[in-house]
Amino acid sequence: MQRITVAKGDGIGPEIMDAALRVMKAANARIEWDEIEIGEQVYLSGNSSGISADSWKKIRENKIFFKAPITTPRGGGYKSLNVTLRKTLGLYANIRPCKSFSPFIATKHPEMDVVVIRENEEDLYAGIEHRQTDEVVQCLKLITRPGCEKIIRYAFEYARLYRRKKVSCFVKDNIMKHTDGLFHEVFKEIAAEYPDIESDNWIIDIGAARLADTPEIFDVIVTPNLYGDIISDITAQISGSVGLAGTANIGASCAMFEAIHGSAPPIAGQNVANPSGLIRAGVMMLHHIGQQDVAETIKNAWSCVIEEGIHTEDIYREGVSKQLVGTREFADAIIERLGRKPRQLKVTEYVKGVTMNIPDYQRRKRADKRLQGVDIFVDWEGSNPDELAEKLQRLDGKIKLSMITNRGVKVWPHGFEETFCTDHWRCRYEVLEGEESVANNCIPELLAQAVEEKIDVIKTENLYTFDGNRGYSLGQGQ
Ligand code: NAD
Repeated sequence: MQRITVAKGDGIGPEIMDAALRVMKAANARIEWDEIEIGEQVYLSGNSSGISADSWKKIRENKIFFKAPITTPRGGGYKSLNVTLRKTLGLYANIRPCKSFSPFIATKHPEMDVVVIRENEEDLYAGIEHRQTDEVVQCLKLITRPGCEKIIRYAFEYARLYRRKKVSCFVKDNIMKHTDGLFHEVFKEIAAEYPDIESDNWIIDIGAARLADTPEIFDVIVTPNLYGDIISDITAQISGSVGLAGTANIGASCAMFEAIHGSAPPIAGQNVANPSGLIRAGVMMLHHIGQQDVAETIKNAWSCVIEEGIHTEDIYREGVSKQLVGTREFADAIIERLGRKPRQLKVTEYVKGVTMNIPDYQRRKRADKRLQGVDIFVDWEGSNPDELAEKLQRLDGKIKLSMITNRGVKVWPHGFEETFCTDHWRCRYEVLEGEESVANNCIPELLAQAVEEKIDVIKTENLYTFDGNRGYSLGQGQ
């Protein structure tokens, strides 16, 4: 018996959660639950994150969280509960299967059956943003080796467990050679450990275009956070079944399962909501906790209901659907069909008794790291980079000004006057010719001199090589 935490949420949440729990109990799911309150009332009671300390305690105790949608009150000052849960509980993988149920649910892509596995904690979502000058703000894109290893291994383990054939990596490493480059490099390393699973790599723009046009060529997709956020919504939309999809957020110890839709306040309390998204999230949860037998039974009964045309209002279509039902009756129809297998839709058969093997991250031997110089970022109102270079060359000493870029484009030496410049200048100081590396104290000395010369340094980034490989980008135009 597995103890889980359940939150019925807001809007249609309580109705669809009751339906999902009823189906699970009828299918003999070996679960018991503690119920917690989250969402609108908790926010309005003055708790800005929508969850109380007691609820946190239950979620952490039980580890498995089955969550109905919540309503975030209008107005500022309320933190996204989902983002808080993902980050605090270390839920590093977001899994969103998107499959067509043609001809029973209308879609332009009857063959699609894609699972998007999105990295959930890093990338631009680390939320590290700064305004640096009058004209420029920045957001830090963080990609880490442990983060890449965990999510990519998860994708291959998922493929093996769910008998998937291929894992595709979506990145933009032709532009972001270091961040997306690391994700791609780790993908290649891990793919080599799974010779039974095909793998390929796509540049995100053309990959997303093909995904929207020909989704049937993809199977499992693994991708960093921002790309995953966007393409998982595209895939859900084009499968024709936004209201039917469930999603899982998985961490090393905790996991959370929910429907992808929101709390739909206008239809709340009317017994018209489709509980499928949450029921399918429940199927993912049962699979995750090792109850593949129960998960399979519910999924097959659900497929029977869909193909028999027993539909809630949101998916009801004249000529295809046979019976219009409410939330409760839809759940009853699943319960009546437990034990049956669909005739037209694919029968679900899960591998049983096998779990994923995601080993703890093993830190590798540290690389030989050598300081080669520093990029100092300067707030300067002028427009002629030669003038700035003249000021900056006064700081030359153990390291020497080698380049100035503006928004990544080289403007000194030999810049083009056509290049548009803002007040945010990256000024690179590098090791003198013939020297192998520079001492750390060079940088504070350089900064102290910059203060004396009234140069407004807004941030610095050290330049290193790692085992002789350059760990920083060059300026465009070089
Ligand atoms: P929504 O998903 O609630 O509704 C979008 C449309 O889909 C509406 O027309 C709604 O009636 C319909 N719909 C959604 N689920 C349905 C279902 N199961 N059956 C039938 N029809 C369904 O999105 P929204 O209107 O943008 O957001 C409403 C509230 O939900 C907001 O407060 C938002 O913050 C919240 N929300 C919560 C979550 C979550 O808890 N994970 C996710 C998204 C939105």
